[in-house]
Amino acid sequence: MSQGLLVVVSGPGGVGKDTLIGMLLARDPRLCYSVSYTTRPRRPYEVDGEHYRFVSEEEFWRLQRAGELLEHAMVDGHLYGTSVERVAEARARGCDVILKIDVQGAEQVRRRVSDAVLIFISPPSMEELRQRRLRRGTETPEQAEARQRLAEVEMGYADRYDHRVVNDDAERAVAQILQILERERQGRQADEAASRPQ
Ligand code: 5GP
Repeated sequence: MSQGLLVVVSGPGGVGKDTLIGMLLARDPRLCYSVSYTTRPRRPYEVDGEHYRFVSEEEFWRLQRAGELLEHAMVDGHLYGTSVERVAEARARGCDVILKIDVQGAEQVRRRVSDAVLIFISPPSMEELRQRRLRRGTETPEQAEARQRLAEVEMGYADRYDHRVVNDDAERAVAQILQILERERQGRQADEAASRPQ
């Protein structure tokens, strides 16, 4: 069996990554989601092991020192990281693994996994992004300002990604991502066929 893809999905907070990833997982059974480690406090609706693996800072750095993280980064004052072993195991089963990680993590994955597929999700405009986060209603005005500044920095990384998708309409964005993944799979199958001995 061929190894599954490694698909990185990044984009500024509030752009709709969680919704898009949820829709992708529901529509394409070949996809699986890599649950990250984080030191961020759990939100009331979050389930440990499903949304994140919630760990102490001490445990996080132990994992990092033990070489168990494929990438890691500090985002908004909290640590986040991806399990190297779980990703490898899922890809070996033929699963196409989705990582929802920030731009710093994406750079590390790019360096370590040369065939990773990097997708950046952009908002239709920065003002629309601000409005979407406002509608969530979970930020103080100071947090909103800080997140908007961070979003502007993150947008500066979009050009380094293999693919850019504008989330103006979730259905359209999901269709575009599914198309990207299909093309990547076909490209790999063609490469594998070409490298097989005649
Ligand atoms: P949240 O705490 O709101 O769920 O996520 C905040 C940010 O952390 C998101 O932009 C997300 O992309 C990023 N993030 C989540 N998991 C990881 C991870 O494992 N590694 C990295 N580098 N970033 C992550």
